[in-house]
Amino acid sequence: DLSDETSLARIGDARAVDLPEARPLIAGATSGETHPVLNPATGAQIGAVTEADAATIEAALAAAAPWAAPVSERAATLRRAAELYEENFGVIFAALAREAGKCLPDAVGELREAVDFLRYYAAEAERIAPAPLGVVSAISPWNFPLAIFTGQIAAALAAGNGVLAKPAEQTPIIATLAVELLHRAGVPRAVLQLLPGQGATVGAALTSDPRVAGVVFTGSTETARLIRSAMATHLAPGAPLIAETGGLNAMIVDSTALPEQAVRDIVASAFRSAGQRCSALRCLYLQEDIAPHVIEMIRGAMDELRLGDPWDLETDVGPVIDEEARGPILAHIEAARAEGRILHELAAPASGTFVAPTLIRVPGIAALGREIFGPVLHLATFRAEELYDVIGAINATGYGLTFGLHSRIDTRVQEVADLVHAGNLYINRNQIGAVVGSQPFGGEGLSGTGPKAGGPLYLPRLSAPHPAGAA
Ligand code: NAD
Repeated sequence: DLSDETSLARIGDARAVDLPEARPLIAGATSGETHPVLNPATGAQIGAVTEADAATIEAALAAAAPWAAPVSERAATLRRAAELYEENFGVIFAALAREAGKCLPDAVGELREAVDFLRYYAAEAERIAPAPLGVVSAISPWNFPLAIFTGQIAAALAAGNGVLAKPAEQTPIIATLAVELLHRAGVPRAVLQLLPGQGATVGAALTSDPRVAGVVFTGSTETARLIRSAMATHLAPGAPLIAETGGLNAMIVDSTALPEQAVRDIVASAFRSAGQRCSALRCLYLQEDIAPHVIEMIRGAMDELRLGDPWDLETDVGPVIDEEARGPILAHIEAARAEGRILHELAAPASGTFVAPTLIRVPGIAALGREIFGPVLHLATFRAEELYDVIGAINATGYGLTFGLHSRIDTRVQEVADLVHAGNLYINRNQIGAVVGSQPFGGEGLSGTGPKAGGPLYLPRLSAPHPAGAA
């Protein structure tokens, strides 16, 4: 609860706090080159990262060990880590806002999801008493630098594995903070090692070494392909890959939808976190007869969004993560502008890597060809008799992560939900979030392979099969 005085005091503390230097945290000596870390909202340097070099990666691989402690001790340690995360929300918010451009509600959501993962996998481990696979590599993205990073590690550790964690290039400081807290909670240094660095070097090394028994990955579909092929060549046959990847997420709003609710959910699903959620709404299909009215309402709701530095607690939409991410999004918007397809756009702050929330009309109902990872919503309209063509276009993308539907016809809801390929369905609500333990998250097709995160099949996938005859 953010109105709670201690929470606000911690956020107040965050403004004064010094962030740690990001560096490899391994059971051995480290070396590597140091680079600046920038704040995407301002372009200012906020710290530095030392990236793991080849010698550091080798030292970590040589020292890596499964977690020999009994399951009760592992679970207690993960629960202690959850408490430490909560107690340190101030510095966590400072890191999320300054390194990842996260607004306060997003930072709160990340903290909550991270501690939910720690506690859920602790309880799951006690329930199923898994045996470790060995040493697992965890490769994570920058867009949920605390929650996904922690979820991957917590699951692998709960099952008793050793973990080699490779955070995204853009968010090494948050990762350093998280691993320091996990070590402080009692996870041994040889059991959890942090290796910041580039995907093509550190990531590639950690997914192509035969000492690695399995890989947990979240990121783009292209990188998942590279990892799968490296694993097939170098790892033991049968080494598991859990991959959570991209999406081309759609929402259908038919003429029976409640307009105010639908618009609120559309705008939140498309623009919250500056559209940098794998689950974010990319393609809105609006039934033609309500389209003019709803488009006008979307314009109005977009105008209410406050763009700016997440350090200002009033901000709704922060920057995109860096210039490399911004370039292709801006090029996509300019191409639409050249064709006269911009329906609405806001103004972006001049400094920092901002992209103004933008609404684009797409010609016809053929869905977008690729994921645009930013605050850009695409809109197509359909006539009642075209509903099945819309479903066909959504399924033809090959992705299957999230899907939203606003309709008050029960039989239609049931039928559309049955026909659309998606790992997570959101009916008459926004397309945001999952609930660890009760609504696990994960996609189908190009969106991922392996069990859903925060669900009961996840730990077994990171565990050795029980010996025959054992209970
Ligand atoms: P990315 O694939 O570029 O990077 C993800 C991680 O992979 C990074 O740590 C990177 O360093 C590493 N990597 C890059 N090349 C590698 C290689 N050759 N070998 C091993 N590791 C390598 O993705 P990103 O840009 O950081 O994240 C955005 C993407 O993640 C989007 O496509 C988004 O949809 C997806 N995503 C999916 C989910 C989900 O749950 N399905 C959640 C969040 C993000």
